[in-house]
Parts: sequence; structure tokens; C-alpha cells
Amino acid sequence: MNSVNIVFIAPPAAGKGTFSKILKEKWGFTHISAGDLLRNVDSSSSVYEEIQEVLRTGALVRGEIIMTLLKEKLLSIDLSKGFILDGFPRNLDQAFAFGDLLKEVNIGVDKAIYLDVDIDTALKRVLGRLSCPKCNRDYNSLTGYHTPKNEGLCDDCHTELVKRSDDNEESFKKRYITYQNETAPVIKFFEDLDILVRLDATKDMCETLKELEKELGLGEIDDNN
Ligand code: ADP
Repeated sequence: MNSVNIVFIAPPAAGKGTFSKILKEKWGFTHISAGDLLRNVDSSSSVYEEIQEVLRTGALVRGEIIMTLLKEKLLSIDLSKGFILDGFPRNLDQAFAFGDLLKEVNIGVDKAIYLDVDIDTALKRVLGRLSCPKCNRDYNSLTGYHTPKNEGLCDDCHTELVKRSDDNEESFKKRYITYQNETAPVIKFFEDLDILVRLDATKDMCETLKELEKELGLGEIDDNN
């Protein structure tokens, strides 16, 4: 079991979620997705409506909300295993608050992985992205990566696949602009801490994954040991 802690910094649909899932399944990381924390807030919560509205528009949810959810999560998991934080910090305020939170829970981040992808590639990934609401398997109908065998149906459980409500062109463009304005400065923040790793995420998924595993010191581990 590894104990590397990483954060992913990337524009929407660069592959944060996909790489996180693979690293979780293959190497045992604990995966924390800021987007999932927000999407999973219970409809009885006082901030539920506010979150739904912001998700629809593609802006960032208030810092206080995401910080509370993240702190709750970090305090509830086994931090002795490596974790992947996907989608946080997403602006400089969050990056500084994150530094304070890490001190409070007495952990550090080892690497910040920046998945670099151009806007056209990311848009194609967003428009084709599908997932199974029953078994959570991910597909893409446009990129050739996990095309469903029967259009619109899960290969495993034959449930009808769904799109995320914010995976449309309008919301994507807003999210991309939010990323450029608010999240891109976070890259420099981690570069200054000397833990930034830049990967070209336009390449074939398997190739980028190999580079990522090498950067994390995972590639040379012998599976038989
Ligand atoms: P993507 O990276 O494809 O946009 P995510 O699931 O990471 O998908 O995020 C979906 C949405 O959740 C974002 O557009 C934003 O509205 C909200 N969100 C995610 N992370 C944060 C965060 N750290 N701070 C504020 N809002 C966030």
C-alpha cells in the first residue's frame, strides 16, 4: 500500500476522475472528488439548492461549503493510505485554506499533478461522457475510450447510461473560463512549492497513465511481490 498524497489540477474533463478511479483500483489510493462531495449533498441540506444552482451554471461553489465538506471527509478517512484529491483546490483562496487544513490534520501533499489538455479535446470528452447510474462504470461515446457496446446501455448491467447535468457545451464553456481565471493560478502556487508535475493529457490514456505512475514511483513495483 502506498502513502503518496496527490492533488489533481486540470480543466474540466481532462481526465481527473478517470485517472483517480484507476489509481484507486490499481494502487489502493483513497479518492476524494470535490465535485462528488458537492453532488452527493443530501437534498434536505440547507445548502442543497444553492449547490445545484451553481453546478448548473459552471461557477465555483462558495469556499466555505467545499471547505466544510472536505474537512469532514478528511477527518473520516484513514489518512495512513495515500489519497487523491480531485478538483481541489480550485482557486488561490482554497489553496491557502488547504495549507491551513493540512496542518490541522497533520498531513502533507507530495505531488500536484497538472493534466494539461486543450479546450477542443476537453469539449469532446465532456459531450461524449456517460456513466452507469447503477454500477458507476464510465463510458465515452465520442472519444473511443470505453465506447458502450450497445448504444446508451451499460455493458455490464444493461442499465441506461446517463449524462451529468453540467456536461453540456454551455456549462462546459463557463467551467473552462472559470478554470482559466481561477484555477490556473493554483498551478503556479504548487510550482513554487516545488511539487508540480505537468503531464500532457491529450495523449492516449494509457500513455499518460504510465507517465503518471512513473512520476508517483509506482511503475516499477513488481506485482508478484
Ligand atoms: P469537472 O472537473 O469536469 O468540471 P468536477 O466534478 O470536478 O468536474 O466539478 C464539477 C463542478 O463542481 C464544478 O464545475 C464546480 O461547480 C463544482 N466544484 C468542484 N470542485 C469545487 C471546488 N473545489 N470549489 C468550488 N466548486 C467546486
